[in-house]
Amino acid sequence: MAKHKNIPFFIPHSGCKNNCTFCSQTKITGYSLPAEQIAKEAERLISVVDESLDYLGGSEAQIAFFGGSFTGIERDRMLLLLQTAWEYVKKGKVAGIRLSTRPDYIDEEILAILKKYGVTHIELGLQSTDEVVLSATNRGHGRDVCFKNAEMIVNAGFELVGQMMIGLPFSTEEKEIQTAKDIVAMGASAARIYPTVVFEETKLYEQCLKGEYMPLSIEDAVRRSLECLKVFRKADVEILRIGLHSSEELKNAPYGANHPAVGELVYGEEMYEQICDLIGLAGTIGRALKIYVADNKVSIASGLNGRNKKRLMQKYDFKAIKIFASGKDEKLKVKIEAEE
Ligand code: SF4
Repeated sequence: MAKHKNIPFFIPHSGCKNNCTFCSQTKITGYSLPAEQIAKEAERLISVVDESLDYLGGSEAQIAFFGGSFTGIERDRMLLLLQTAWEYVKKGKVAGIRLSTRPDYIDEEILAILKKYGVTHIELGLQSTDEVVLSATNRGHGRDVCFKNAEMIVNAGFELVGQMMIGLPFSTEEKEIQTAKDIVAMGASAARIYPTVVFEETKLYEQCLKGEYMPLSIEDAVRRSLECLKVFRKADVEILRIGLHSSEELKNAPYGANHPAVGELVYGEEMYEQICDLIGLAGTIGRALKIYVADNKVSIASGLNGRNKKRLMQKYDFKAIKIFASGKDEKLKVKIEAEE
């Protein structure tokens, strides 16, 4: 499958009248943008897309409206952004349009508009399908809305992407695995997993300070994300991302899984488990392990800062470990040999 490229266009917090306890996006005062600012925003979209197409090379890219709840912004503003993006789709300059939104900002009328303007993918910020977690994080809707509106999206012929979080208040590993299973059952073709990060000036931060919420450790974030990843792998649901994009804000977040490479840690852990499974009960002491992986998986096999190699050495008493880039589509293989 060709890796898709996004041309992201961020609409921070716009369209969202909610205030989730973990949300770090500054609440905008006043909800509507004046007409001239709406026009300027569309001009900004054109320059962002034109610049991106120059270095992306075009046709495989999608224009991606991320950041807030796109379908909740003012109607004339949403239409202008969609019309502007649609021009690029019509001319074959981009492959489609995707957007992220809240489950309760979807209805039949909105879907009809999105269809008309060539939207292909809808990313639903579900975060959890557990009633208690949804309520504790002030999501403003229940699990029934998640299911009903996801079904509406799939039935209308859009690709559904499920976004979920790890380590929210009152969440557990079991609830997260269930959320991943629910996303699969909803018919999602792809998913994003976001371990919870605690940002300052959020309700969650206050809850941390009061001892009402125990932030997620990096170790737990990796373990719990991996269990959800396995659910998605089994169902052939593509993982678009694990963890937030690195940013100054993420670096400064006081609590939670604010590791800039949490996704790499999860993929590294996944491969570590797979390598251990392949080694099985083979005799290993004083021998050499050769690991063969696809070209782009060498660093994942080695693990962040070589942690997989170190752990394999310790666990199995290998004398040497070598990892080989063995072609674009090489499946993971291991060989255990007497050291040369
Ligand atoms: S729905 Fe999204 S943008 Fe709105 S408050 Fe919650 S996390 Fe923030």
